[in-house]
Order: sequence, then structure tokens, then C-alpha cells
Amino acid sequence: MNRSLSEIISKRALGVDASGIRKVFDLAAKMKDPINFSIGLPDFDVPDIVKDAAIDAIRRGENRYTQTQGIAPLRERLRKDLSKEIGRDVGDVLITSGCSGGLFLAILATIDPGDEAVFLDPYFVMYKHLLTVAGGKAVIVDSYPDFRFPADKVERAITPRTKLLILNSPSNPTGVVMTPAEIQSAVEIARKHNLLIISDEIYEPFLYSALSTQHSALPTAATTYENTIILRGFSKSHAMTGWRLGYAAGPEAILSQMTKLQQYTFVCAPSPLQYAAVKALDVPMETARQAYARKRDIVFQSLSRKFNVVQPQGAFYIFPQVPKGMTASDFVAKAIDNNVLVIPGNVFSERDTHFRISYATTDEKLARGCDILCKLAE
Ligand code: PMP
Repeated sequence: MNRSLSEIISKRALGVDASGIRKVFDLAAKMKDPINFSIGLPDFDVPDIVKDAAIDAIRRGENRYTQTQGIAPLRERLRKDLSKEIGRDVGDVLITSGCSGGLFLAILATIDPGDEAVFLDPYFVMYKHLLTVAGGKAVIVDSYPDFRFPADKVERAITPRTKLLILNSPSNPTGVVMTPAEIQSAVEIARKHNLLIISDEIYEPFLYSALSTQHSALPTAATTYENTIILRGFSKSHAMTGWRLGYAAGPEAILSQMTKLQQYTFVCAPSPLQYAAVKALDVPMETARQAYARKRDIVFQSLSRKFNVVQPQGAFYIFPQVPKGMTASDFVAKAIDNNVLVIPGNVFSERDTHFRISYATTDEKLARGCDILCKLAE
């Protein structure tokens, strides 16, 4: 049989359209020393004590596969911490290859072809693509203009095929944090329709209250709803995006399926780095959190002069609306012409009306970049 390579490629792979983000990176590659507001990663480095622990683990010979669910000291510590936080035993913890690994396994463990998952627009782009890979359907509920949880719309989006409600708080790309009341209404919907909640809490350490300088606990569905899979990780909390370390906790019935699938895909998370992660849990990250809260203030105050913009309460993103009469793609092209790299909203949304800034950069670049963006909005 005469079959070309393009005919060998699966419909599954072809169904994933990653062109939006690729276009931005292609444009960025042509820029010389841009003010780069596109990067979804903290601007500090992994704490030295954690680097040393990783190097020690490698030298000690912790270089082999671990159990697929991860090393016991890390799982036990996370179980203890999470259980204390949510006020009940969270159950066993699975160490994943990043939060992305956890998302992949959770979706693969639950979604059959034609099954539906509901999440809000704007969304973390991976949700949509992973559902395509699983043959499922992304049911996307618009949360513009304030990005609050639109309980009525969410409930109307549910069909007999809906299995998952995916929540992401603090949100990428808006920085919005769900209130306890919003979490409660999500839980009520999930309970009524027997849904599993996947709670993507990767930005949990970056939580800023308008009223308090203290880090308070993130409102999470897991507190009142057992059928919640919590997904978190070390990528953002400790600036280890390249270490590929995350974790999942939730009902045993789902977690055991995720563990089985991990056995035959990722096998295990990187072994020496799991030992270092145990150390990472004891490093106070409060200074970093406070620095980001200050950056949030700088960006929000500067951009509110010229843009419609919702104040973020977490993560390190802000999602302003472009001036009327322009698409986000047009505005981003203008920003790039002026050496500021931001991401058009249509990468995270069915709309092309907003753009995402990551404010994980120096205060000086923030001030300069925001001034340029404000001038472009005039
Ligand atoms: N969820 C969200 C909302 C994210 O923004 C990211 C990373 N950009 C991830 C999950 C994946 O993180 P990890 O590096 O742990 O795979």
C-alpha cells in the first residue's frame, strides 16, 4: 500500500490546533531583547537549598525509577499538608510529571469519546487540547466581562454526557480567584449532576488579598466535595517549570486509574527531583508572594488608566481588554512592533478582545512596558 507520512498521522494529532501560541513565539523569535510579558513562569530561580538537595539525591544514587505513584516521604508530606488545609483526609497523593501530567491523566482516566467537560472561557489552553486528544468535547462557558463564576450559564451547559467540571483558581490568564460562595455554587452544580470536579490549583501559592498581606488558604471545592481532584505542582511555586513535578489528590477510584495510566505513560516523575521537592516544601516563599503582590499593584494601577481591566487576586497574569474597534491580534501586533511581547486573548478564549500580560518580570520592565501599552491605547 502506498501511504504517505501525512496519511499516517492520526486524526487525534491533527485535531489539536496549537497555531495561536506558535504564531506568537514565531513573532517573538524575531524581536531583539523585547520587554517580554509572555512568559508563564516566575522570574526568580529555584531556591539554592532545593538545588543542593537535587544534586545530593543524584550523587546518592536516587537515579532509578521510583514507584509510579511517587516516593513515600513526598506523598506522605503532601497528604498531611493538604488534609490539614482542607479539613479532612485528602486520601493518597499521586506525584505527576508536572500539573500538565496530572491533567492529562485525569482527563484520560475519565473521558470517553463524546463525553463532555465544562470549563470557563477564558481558559488554560491545555484543557481544550487534552479533551480533543481524549476524543471528548470541551463545553466552554463565557465568563466575560468580569470573569466571575456564572453559575446559571454553567448549569445550562450541562448535558447527560457531562462528566467533568474543570475549575482553575487562581486563573491563567485572568488572575481571578473564585470566592468561597462561587466555589460553593460550583460544588452544588457538581453534586446535583454527579460531576467530578478537576480543580487546577497550580497558582495556589500566588494569592493576594486586597485586605490582608497574609497568605490565606485558597477556597477549594475539595473542602466540601469529595469528588474533587486537586491538581497542584512545584513549577510555579518554586520556579521549577523544567523539573516537571506536580501532584494529584482525590477520590481513590479515580486516582488509582490515573496511577495505572501513569505506569504506562510517564512511568514516574523525575526521581532525584522528588527528593528535592520534599525540601522545597520547607522553604518559605512568602517574600516571592509579596513581590508578586506588589507587581500586581504596579501593573493594575498603570493599566487601569487606559484599559478596562479586572484586578487579579492571584497567579501572575492580568487580562486587559484592548481598545474598542480593534481585535486583540491587531493590538498585539502593534505591541510587538513597539518591542513589547504580550499574548492575544484568542489563545485562551473563543474571543479576540483581550490580551494576557505575565507580570513575573522586573519592576522596571513592568513600568516601561505598561507605559508603552498605555500609549498604544490612546
Ligand atoms: N495549569 C495551568 C492553569 C497552567 O497555567 C499551567 C502552566 N502554564 C499548568 C497547569 C501546567 O503546569 P506544569 O508546569 O506543572 O505542568
